Amino acid sequence: MTFEQDYKKKKIKMKTINGKIIASELNEKLSVKISKLKNNFNTIPHLVVIIVGENPASKLYVKNKSIAAERVGIKSTLVRFEKGINEKKLLDKIEVFNKNKEVDGILVQLPLPPHINKERVIDKISFEKDVDGFHSLNIGLLAQGRPRVIPCTPLGCLKLINKVTDITGKNIIIIGRSNIVGKPLSYLLTLHDATVTLAHSKSQNLKDLCKNKDIVIAATGIPEMIEDSWVNKNAIVIDVGINEIFNKNKKRKLVGDVNFEKVMPKVKAITPVPGGVGPMTIHCLLANTFELALKRRKLKIS
Ligand code: NAD
Repeated sequence: MTFEQDYKKKKIKMKTINGKIIASELNEKLSVKISKLKNNFNTIPHLVVIIVGENPASKLYVKNKSIAAERVGIKSTLVRFEKGINEKKLLDKIEVFNKNKEVDGILVQLPLPPHINKERVIDKISFEKDVDGFHSLNIGLLAQGRPRVIPCTPLGCLKLINKVTDITGKNIIIIGRSNIVGKPLSYLLTLHDATVTLAHSKSQNLKDLCKNKDIVIAATGIPEMIEDSWVNKNAIVIDVGINEIFNKNKKRKLVGDVNFEKVMPKVKAITPVPGGVGPMTIHCLLANTFELALKRRKLKIS
């Protein structure tokens, strides 16, 4: 039963989709499976997280990923490189982890410094250990409708939407066409029988494009750009954006790409920032690591 059916039955007004609670329930279930893997096969999934440079947001993300991994019983190894590392050294290190039989998943935190070719680095990761699902082979398989590893944020969005409604035949707009969010999300939702509009910075009449949609997904990186006048009252809004702004008192604050205060009272359901898509992205990273460990080691856990 979806939230929508459950809420209708209980006559509860559905509003905020709490990604934090949903992710924590899923993480609990995942940790039970990881315990079984350990008890039955004496195996622990192992995730390697590579960070280059000192970007404070990236440092926080990788720290959170490592903590979350350890919490569900996944071994995590954090590898740090100086900002000035040359590309070959980074590629060679990835090759070492590709060959290491103890490693199930490899993630290189983006962005990388400009002197390093991001695509070459991503494609250097063995597609069998590509836990982010960004390798061109994995993206190609997803685009063809036969996914192997699904990128974490798009997968997190799908899981959140599935909690709220059945997406079959729904009209969905995704605003933002990046390789890590918008594009793979459009492939994934198409695969799940939605009718998808993929909008971007050159799209004309964006507000009008949003108005008649069942689901609006914002992934632009523009703080609070989606206003209440853009969405209809039955819309479900998924806010992928994570933007740091400073409020009137010059205090740091995280906001999404949607003006939550204005949009929330109008729509059927909405994800908050923080506490929406973010925790689901991390959950999907852990779930992908687990799945890759099972696949590579040819094991099954019920
Ligand atoms: P990106 O900068 O790579 O891409 C932004 C996209 O938005 C581009 O395709 C661009 O065409 C589009 N865009 C920019 N301005 C626009 C406008 N005015 N109108 C319409 N489209 C516009 O960004 P990204 O990596 O896809 O990330 C997007 C946002 O999502 C950022 O805030 C990022 O921090 C956040 N993010 C969150 C998670 C998470 O786990 N919650 C994961 C990844 C990214």
